[in-house]
Amino acid sequence: MNPMINCPKCSSEVLVETPALGNIPLDVCPACSGIWFEKGELEALLRQSQGGGQADLGLIDPKPEGHDCPACKAKMSRGGLVNPLLLVDKCQVCEGVWLDARELALVKKLLGLSGGESGVNVARPAAVPAAPEPRDPKLILIKIVAAGCAIAGLVGVSYQMYLYFSPAEAVSRAPSIGRAVLSVLLFAGGVLALNWGKEDRWR
Ligand SMILES: [Zn+2]
Ligand SMILES: [Zn+2]
Repeated sequence: MNPMINCPKCSSEVLVETPALGNIPLDVCPACSGIWFEKGELEALLRQSQGGGQADLGLIDPKPEGHDCPACKAKMSRGGLVNPLLLVDKCQVCEGVWLDARELALVKKLLGLSGGESGVNVARPAAVPAAPEPRDPKLILIKIVAAGCAIAGLVGVSYQMYLYFSPAEAVSRAPSIGRAVLSVLLFAGGVLALNWGKEDRWR
């Protein structure tokens, strides 16, 4: 299978290979559920469903107005598949066939087939999970220092308050406004630094 075939209709979607239908790996668009059959795959699928019969999958009255072939980028022809009313896109270069989501059911109906899957749905492959953010040792150090500052600031403020509210003769030092302010700043700075980077998750 060709890796990374883009959906001919939803150009940004990459077809997902799935073995869901008759053990033939199919490339299915996760957005529109269209199916890309490489040369021979649709025939094989129909033969399989049909139990050995031959399906002639040449296009009836093909017109050059299909999507671009997802495999070789040539303009596909739009024409009747099996029935002139069942219009599908077929690449005349690589002979791949593009079926819209509902067209597979129609193909089988027209061939008198029953059973099996009438459609294929695939999920987009899970985006490669982002590696857990490596713990930046520098950041951890900053957090530790920040926590230390916050605690030191808190202790400083408490100490200054203790000095301030205690009777002057009970303590050996006078409270200092300067030190109190410094402690408050230390505490505030520490808390800010601790929370630094958290707003990242809101982006
Ligand atoms: Zn699509
Ligand atoms: Zn092609």
